[in-house]
Amino acid sequence: MKINVAKSSGFCFGVSRAIDICLSLADSKNPVHVLGDIVHNNHVVRELSEKGIRKVKSIRPAKKGSILIISAHGAPKETFTRARACGYRIMDATCPKVKDTYKIAKMLEKNNTVIIIGDKGHTEVKGIAGQLKKKPITIESPRGVPVSALKKIKKARVITQSTQSLSNINGIMDRLKRIIPDIKLYDTTCRITTVKQKEIESLTVENDCVLICGSVDSANTKRLYQIAKKMNRRTHWIESVKDIKLTWFKNAQKVGIMAGASTPEAIVEEIVSLLSSEKD
Ligand code: SF4
Repeated sequence: MKINVAKSSGFCFGVSRAIDICLSLADSKNPVHVLGDIVHNNHVVRELSEKGIRKVKSIRPAKKGSILIISAHGAPKETFTRARACGYRIMDATCPKVKDTYKIAKMLEKNNTVIIIGDKGHTEVKGIAGQLKKKPITIESPRGVPVSALKKIKKARVITQSTQSLSNINGIMDRLKRIIPDIKLYDTTCRITTVKQKEIESLTVENDCVLICGSVDSANTKRLYQIAKKMNRRTHWIESVKDIKLTWFKNAQKVGIMAGASTPEAIVEEIVSLLSSEKD
């Protein structure tokens, strides 16, 4: 069985940067906390925790000198205000690409209703919404377009969560154009997301089986899985080598592997190693 690992598999720039920021603080004498998951990968979160960088779910008064790291997905403005009020020094690991989206969203809200195409409740979406004076409308899918609530809106500008797929964006925009007279899309999907989504299409047709590797709460991994599964039914979403069932590869000549943007290289190496030993 030939094993083909996607060229764009694994960490993106924003994830590498956020992890580097955490590691640079691993030897700090002061307590170092991360608000939520630094990136959506359980292995990364666990490894950082072993280095003393603890995840906290909420912000509470902190010991003097404590450091709070904001994750790669960003956070609303009020989170920064609260963290400072609780005594934290903030290290902001928000991906620069996400911060670009903040700037665009703030510019657009001056004269428009802002719509975000993204996953409701995702940290990145909450962070974007938390930059704005007026609550934006978040839409997840074409089916989720709230037609009656949108009917009174004459003008809107649409931005996208960094991990969205083109087909979802197009599907939602098609519906919105029929409801809102003046509507324009500012596609703020990240370039690496687009590269990965393009590559997964070819990987899916060129291989008998496909493994998508990433944690269950990783939005970009979910999109990769959705795209691949539609095109190749022998697609499996795994978090690590432990999830693999060798029966998946019966009569398969080629297997394609794509890791989400927050999946460490070591996880993919373990998968390749297992599959390579099976072919011998
Ligand atoms: S996927 Fe793009 S926006 Fe998200 S962390 Fe990576 S580089 Fe940044």
